Amino acid sequence: MSNRIIKQNLIQGPQGQIIGRQTEQIIDDGVTIRSETIQSATRCPSCHRPIHDITQWMGRCDCCGHALCNQCISICHACRRRICGRCRHSFVGQRLLQVCCSCLPKLYKRQGMMDKIMFSKEKFRRQQQLRQNALRRKALYLQSRRQGIKDRIALYRLTTPTRTGARNAQRRR
Ligand SMILES: [Zn+2]
Ligand SMILES: [Zn+2]
Ligand SMILES: [Zn+2]
Ligand SMILES: [Zn+2]
Repeated sequence: MSNRIIKQNLIQGPQGQIIGRQTEQIIDDGVTIRSETIQSATRCPSCHRPIHDITQWMGRCDCCGHALCNQCISICHACRRRICGRCRHSFVGQRLLQVCCSCLPKLYKRQGMMDKIMFSKEKFRRQQQLRQNALRRKALYLQSRRQGIKDRIALYRLTTPTRTGARNAQRRR
């Protein structure tokens, strides 16, 4: 005759729920005592990797609430919350960031605002440049006009006899 002793170890999730069981059978058939361990497949609901030990549970995703294991836990680079693989997003800014669902739109918004500020700064700079160019052109124009008037006065003086010169000429006649 054989005796069977069945020992069951329960594997619990982070909230204490049973997520798997390990069954150990000790079979005593009168000749030898054997031990068999059958483990029901326990997998992380987030990454589906097998879980063998309760210490592998890392709590729940701070974003969606799914259970996390030590294989799939990530930390949001922006808010430092624990996140699962589904809630992990890549954001390419000045450097590559791993962020959660709620930080991603905030980062995009901030990037958009920064782009707008950069754009308006650039626009202002261009306008300033155009204004300066216009002023420079006007100054050059005024200078050339002034020079033209001076030249005309000089020419007038050269070609027109002075009043005293004219009087002298009359007297001489
Ligand atoms: Zn999540
Ligand atoms: Zn996992
Ligand atoms: Zn975050
Ligand atoms: Zn999420």
